[in-house]
Amino acid sequence: MAATIYVNGRITGERDAVIPVLDHGFLYGEGVYEVMRTYQRRPFLYGQHIERMRKSAGMINLDVPYTNAALLAEIEMTAAAFDETRGDAPRAEEIYIRVLLTRGVGQMTYDPAACPVPTLVIIVKPQVDPPREAYEKGVKVILVPVVRNHPFSINPLIKSNNLLNNALAAQYAMRLGGFEAIMRNYRSEISECSQSNLFVVKDGAVTTPPIEAGLLAGITRAFVFGVGRACGVRVAEATLTDADLFGADEMFLTSTTREIVPIVTVDGSRIGTGVPGPVTRRLLQEFRRQVAALEP
Ligand code: PMP
Repeated sequence: MAATIYVNGRITGERDAVIPVLDHGFLYGEGVYEVMRTYQRRPFLYGQHIERMRKSAGMINLDVPYTNAALLAEIEMTAAAFDETRGDAPRAEEIYIRVLLTRGVGQMTYDPAACPVPTLVIIVKPQVDPPREAYEKGVKVILVPVVRNHPFSINPLIKSNNLLNNALAAQYAMRLGGFEAIMRNYRSEISECSQSNLFVVKDGAVTTPPIEAGLLAGITRAFVFGVGRACGVRVAEATLTDADLFGADEMFLTSTTREIVPIVTVDGSRIGTGVPGPVTRRLLQEFRRQVAALEP
């Protein structure tokens, strides 16, 4: 399904959405982004996403020259244009919203002063959930040799448009038929997946690597801590190694567009009983209960 795209105030279909070649987002990968989705057609955890975008932008010395309200107005305008392309039925479906902010257009120098105006892009398309089977049967993941970026190099806390580290990891997993790639950090501890955070369950307790392990502070990751509290499941941060993965009772990944997806094998080795476990299912059920209860 075609996307509707906003580029610096101009809204078009995806064929006509263009940015200049001298945009440093294109030339150097200098930019940050967020992916949100709606529930009841409202962007979920909007404030948290924009706060993270401001942090990401700050870490590459980029200003976000929009208030949260101004940015939301541009998103809503793009969503309204998207609806117009969809005829009568669209209001029922949830949307995917990708907001990108790049350094902007300038001469070929790394001096940020060359680019006084950042480029704002908003991509709106239907939210496509993972297949039902992923939730019911669980997915296979691959522990890849691609190491997550060192925090002193390109800090994984920056949700950067430069996604080569993630893309290389994902490609490796895809070649082996994996749904996701698990990456280790430079200390060989588990960090996260190519586009989601990772959790393991052992003896009823849920753990996920600490931010300090070098990973993106997922908005869903943070939300799951609260989901756990609401349904009596202990969720905490802990340093994890390969042995914690292969010895886990259950495992799952989280992201905005995927919610909570059970993992049933790593590199072909069965995790727990090889089917989505009770703790993962309880968290997913409580997650869905909470989002279904949101005000439209
Ligand atoms: N880690 C990485 C590397 C990601 O790209 C994503 C997806 N944005 C996540 C984790 C999950 O983050 P969130 O829950 O905010 O979507």
